[in-house]
Amino acid sequence: MTIPTLELNDGNSIPQLGFGVFLVPADEAERAVSEALEAGYRHIDTAAIYGNEEGVGAAIAKSGIARDELYITTKLWNDRHDADEPDKAIEESLSKLGLDAVDLYLVHWPTPAKDNYAHAWEKMIGIRERGLSRSIGVSNHLVPHLERIVAETGVTPAVNQIELHPAYQQRDITAWGAEHGVLIESWGPLGQGKYDLFGTEAVASAASETGKTPAQVVLRWHLQKGFIVFPKSVRPERMRENIDVFGFELSDAQMAAIDALDPLDGSGRVGTHPNDMN
Ligand code: NAD
Repeated sequence: MTIPTLELNDGNSIPQLGFGVFLVPADEAERAVSEALEAGYRHIDTAAIYGNEEGVGAAIAKSGIARDELYITTKLWNDRHDADEPDKAIEESLSKLGLDAVDLYLVHWPTPAKDNYAHAWEKMIGIRERGLSRSIGVSNHLVPHLERIVAETGVTPAVNQIELHPAYQQRDITAWGAEHGVLIESWGPLGQGKYDLFGTEAVASAASETGKTPAQVVLRWHLQKGFIVFPKSVRPERMRENIDVFGFELSDAQMAAIDALDPLDGSGRVGTHPNDMN
């Protein structure tokens, strides 16, 4: 299974599809990540707040897979933006993961009411300079947050990881990313199962036309849009289904029909608005 890579604005590359471990309990993470590695995933997306970095690290250690074949992301939690806290937080994450460096470190949320995300971003630049993360980026940053961190530091994040699925496409942020060379990582790519995405005419008919499952159609839509995705499932059969998305293509008409799902009555954002997370 060859997973395509995308080039980041710092010259590093990232596998376009990975495995996310949000809400994977600590005592299940090692098994789930081991099964994901077995299924062919090489890119794992975790975060300090998920509480499962140790399980992710244990699975990596046991796998015997060479470090340079793996792509590991973790994230700085909201209560660690100030002073030297980011420096301590990355050391703690690395120790739990059992790694010398991660591939990508993200500011998890901007927490704008605390007005400390620009400071956190400055600390991220130091973390990259010290080699503790090969690339740095942000998550849940809206356009004003992105503009401010770039204006204050001159450093553009490699990625912005945002809630993004067919009924909630965040077109202002993706356009800003395209203009400034910031790749978009879609979190909640399947809408976290919180609305009937798979039952929409656009997804259901593309699934029957291609002979693929609705989840595979939606993941394929993300990939063809140029987004990075890391669907989460603790079930091995779904892990295999979600990585099996490279042997077919959606037509322009199928893509356009899914594009047209935003706006979709009765759905939209399924997670917290970044301005409300502080
Ligand atoms: P998701 O859209 O990937 O939904 C996950 C749910 O979809 C699973 O619990 C499962 O029930 C279902 N599912 C998975 N595969 C399926 C399939 N083939 N068929 C049917 N149902 C299936 O949402 P997510 O887990 O929230 O997002 C993916 C990853 O994004 C997370 O694991 C995490 O790594 C990341 N994330 C980041 C943030 C952030 O703030 N940066 C927030 C949430 C998630």
